[in-house]
Amino acid sequence: MRIYTHPACTRHDPGPGHAERPERLAAVTDALRDAFPALAWEEAPRATRGQLLRVHDDALLALVLDTPVDGPMPLDPDTVLGPGSAEAALRAAGAGIAAVDAVMHGEARRVFCAVRPPGHHATPSAAMGFCLFNNVAVAAAHACDKHGLSRVAVVDFDVHHGNGTQAIFDTDPRVMYLSSHQMPLYPDTGYANERGVGNIINAPLPPGCDSDGFRRIWREQLLPTLDSFRPQLLFISAGFDAHARDPLAQIELVTGDFEWITRELVAIARRHGDGRVVSMLEGGYDLTALGEASVAHVGALAE
Ligand SMILES: [Zn+2]
Repeated sequence: MRIYTHPACTRHDPGPGHAERPERLAAVTDALRDAFPALAWEEAPRATRGQLLRVHDDALLALVLDTPVDGPMPLDPDTVLGPGSAEAALRAAGAGIAAVDAVMHGEARRVFCAVRPPGHHATPSAAMGFCLFNNVAVAAAHACDKHGLSRVAVVDFDVHHGNGTQAIFDTDPRVMYLSSHQMPLYPDTGYANERGVGNIINAPLPPGCDSDGFRRIWREQLLPTLDSFRPQLLFISAGFDAHARDPLAQIELVTGDFEWITRELVAIARRHGDGRVVSMLEGGYDLTALGEASVAHVGALAE
């Protein structure tokens, strides 16, 4: 079990009062250091432009990496580019690249990337929803193109639908994307009839959905579909904002649910992918819930 992070990820600052704040990352890393003193921590490298261009267009790279910014510059009502954002975005995406190389070279079996900004809303051409680059998509594309994998899965239990990840892979049968998410909720995508080329599996959850409803849909629908895909490498978009304490949504999960889903996913990874899992932090906006859920998730990954 290995953790990738980088201090630059705390220097992306969307400004006062923003939910996706630097303190989120400290809540995760402090909780993990307290709970697991023996974890192996590694510094995330920068992603290269070539690695980012596998899923993003040139104009988005230029916007995020080459725009001169001396203060917070809004890209949309939710998403802000500041002086530290380009470096943070490069390290967040680079963490996933390094994680893939580590598991494919047998240096680690499972990796958690404690990074921000999050990624799953970023589309091929647009930063949105707090996300600049789609970190997990950059990593999944690297697994396919660099390591030659033909069946990789991205599992997304963040409370929001990963519209960007879906848009990047919805014509790519090498990648299965499976998501549970509250609906209605931002970004208003992820209906069950959005199926890509049969590789997109969306399970909308109604507001108020609790542990029982969440576990039922995963046990009956999403996990069997993932199992039958036989992923050679399993990615997790690990957002913890479906927790009952989270202020941005109305799903009522408890900390133990994140341990449960992680155990189920590790079991599938063991059956088909030599136990290889790369998990990347997405959302989670209550600092207490975020710390506890991260510990539950990483504890189950480390088993
Ligand atoms: Zn979210």
